[in-house]
Amino acid sequence: SLSQRLSGVLDSLRGQGRLTEDQINSAARELRMALLEADVALPVIKGFVDAVKAKALGAEITQSLTPGQAFLRLVQQTLTDTLGGEVVPLNLRAQPPAILLMAGLQGAGKTTTVGKLAKLLKEREKKSVLVVSCDVYRPAAIEQLRIVAGQVGVEFFPSEVGQSPQAIARAAVEQAKKTYADVLIVDTAGRTTVDEDMMVELAGLHAALDPVETLFVVDAMTGQDAAKTARAFADRVPLTGVVLTKADGDSRGGAALSVRQVTGAPIKYIGVGEKSDKLEVFHPDRIAARILGQGDMLGLIEETVQRVDAEKAAKLAAKLKSKKGFDLADFREQMLQMQNMGGFDSLLEKLPGGANLQAQLKNANPEKQVKRTIAIINSMTAQERQFPDLIKASRKRRIAAGSGVEVQQVNQLLRQFDQTRDMMKKMAGGGMAKMMRSLAG
Ligand code: GDP
Ligand code: MG
Repeated sequence: SLSQRLSGVLDSLRGQGRLTEDQINSAARELRMALLEADVALPVIKGFVDAVKAKALGAEITQSLTPGQAFLRLVQQTLTDTLGGEVVPLNLRAQPPAILLMAGLQGAGKTTTVGKLAKLLKEREKKSVLVVSCDVYRPAAIEQLRIVAGQVGVEFFPSEVGQSPQAIARAAVEQAKKTYADVLIVDTAGRTTVDEDMMVELAGLHAALDPVETLFVVDAMTGQDAAKTARAFADRVPLTGVVLTKADGDSRGGAALSVRQVTGAPIKYIGVGEKSDKLEVFHPDRIAARILGQGDMLGLIEETVQRVDAEKAAKLAAKLKSKKGFDLADFREQMLQMQNMGGFDSLLEKLPGGANLQAQLKNANPEKQVKRTIAIINSMTAQERQFPDLIKASRKRRIAAGSGVEVQQVNQLLRQFDQTRDMMKKMAGGGMAKMMRSLAG
């Protein structure tokens, strides 16, 4: 994996005072191999590695970093930049209806994504949404969209096999205007491979609709092929954004880098499951971290925060800012929230090394472990929760006895707490506290 490769790089550089050209070259070779393994397209790899090398040659390495850390940081920064740097929201700035045109191969996940987007726009943005299918080749495709629309509770404009896609699209726009829909999402027919008829049809729809967003939907698991498909589409219609689907089945992340580079269009969302709520905003820094195997820690925290009420979030934000800092009572609060959230598998996936953990835990019971953690913290005094450093041997024995566990498990919890606190500290300086304040207010 990329992270293993890179730790190889880091080890070879550890203990060195500076990055020499030789070191950079050998690190770059490893990086190239790592990107290949992550299934990034070849031309993209070359450009990316060259960019990292150029930066590494010019970079000053601060005292606090080992050369290896400095290199990793450069790779991560370049990766984030290459993936677009910032979150780019969906553009709806158009005379209503704002039209979203979906493009992509058959099976990429267009129809599923129409449902996910419609749900998101309806529930989070309070938009009224109309959806229509221009897949006039397969009756099942139209029926699929009708069902999806029903599931997420948005209006469906009926179409029929044999009609002209452009005629359907125009009628749907009229209907959207008549009913004052804010957004019209137009699903299209794909082919199993890039095909001239499909491109002509898509370009025709684009010309007829003048959509504010033309979203290229692509299966993350197609790896190298994703780049080729992306190029073929980008050559024919001006893509404004990308939705990367099936990211839940792809641990390598290479397609994200390739597709972004090839199309120049920002990746706006990633699909992380078949259900209608499995669509996430694309965060370049988090995917960069995922490609580097560091886990989507921020995503995990955000998921937690989104489900706590605003008051709790505000309290936690205040605590992060205050000198007292994050304590075991807060840790227990987090565990309680996790318990309320359920879905431990999806949470675990996002932890650093979570995939391994998930495998290890296959037979274990994460719910039970969270319960145990809460039980242990319940056995502490308020003072111990606030000042965990007080918890020495005799207190550990008392706490273990009180919660019916071994001292070793108390130690394990304290270590876990330390790691979490370190992470919270790191994030308190950055966007985390700000984010929580904005959620709170
Ligand atoms: P279309 O031909 O482009 O319209 O593709 P569909 O929307 O019909 O999706 C094809 C298959 O991919 C279906 O079985 C979907 O459930 C599945 N799918 C779509 N998006 C995702 C995703 O993000 N994750 C997973 N695991 N499956 C997905
Ligand atoms: Mg479809």
